[in-house]
Amino acid sequence: MLEIKNLHARIAEDGTEILRGVNLTVKPGEVVAIMGPNGSGKSTLSYVLSGRDDYEVTEGDILLNGESILEMDPAERASAGVFLAFQYPMEIPGVATMEFLKVAMNSQRKARGEEELKVPEFIKRVRTAAEELSMDMNMLKRPLNVGFSGGEKKRAEILQMKLLEPNLCVLDETDSGLDIDALRIVAEGVNALRSPDRAIVVITHYQRLLDYIVPDTVHVLYKGRVVKSGGKELAQELEKTGYAEIIGEAA
Ligand code: ADP
Ligand code: MG
Ligand code: MG
Repeated sequence: MLEIKNLHARIAEDGTEILRGVNLTVKPGEVVAIMGPNGSGKSTLSYVLSGRDDYEVTEGDILLNGESILEMDPAERASAGVFLAFQYPMEIPGVATMEFLKVAMNSQRKARGEEELKVPEFIKRVRTAAEELSMDMNMLKRPLNVGFSGGEKKRAEILQMKLLEPNLCVLDETDSGLDIDALRIVAEGVNALRSPDRAIVVITHYQRLLDYIVPDTVHVLYKGRVVKSGGKELAQELEKTGYAEIIGEAA
């Protein structure tokens, strides 16, 4: 589903190379965890996947279902079924969350050649998803993420994922100080979204999240490269030994 091949990327503004040859494959149905110490390039990888224009890809490719997405802008990638949840979700002032959801769902439907959702059907879907997440519908009248607590932002993120039904979800949960409740919301949301035709990439600094979301594969990123890969036991190993050993091996 997702193939990252020898990906090199730099900061557009000053040319600093951050990703230095990332290779990574995610199959449909798989949950893949990307771990690594602070500053290893995890968030950069999520930004590059999203198509943010402050990063430049200088070498390599990103394939979604066999096709390169490098030339697609962020909206086109979203329409192609890629959903990215960032470490710091964007605040969208002036637009009620409900309205934001409607625009997002309908633009995705349009890209897929589907009709706009009728308002009652739209409301029904949002209500069902919000109930599953114990979210108050009144919250959805407020602008997206503006003044939301950490836990509320996580709920809003999972709500969008449920409604947009992406093929590929990428969640950057790094070291954002998720409390235990937010951690559970994310984990339950992600686990509910597991499906044979969907791939999920969880980027995290902490092993703790992976007690709740059990990954099929774990990759460790260090200095812009994948330096170690393994099964779920790799995350548990890292919890005990820290990153020092892997960093030593990589050096
Ligand atoms: P991680 O998410 O693994 O902690 P990041 O991707 O946030 O790592 O950062 C990787 C490295 O790139 C860090 O050294 C960081 O300071 C640097 N970096 C990332 N984005 C920028 C930017 N826009 N400007 C300057 N440095 C950046
Ligand atoms: Mg960081
Ligand atoms: Mg980060």
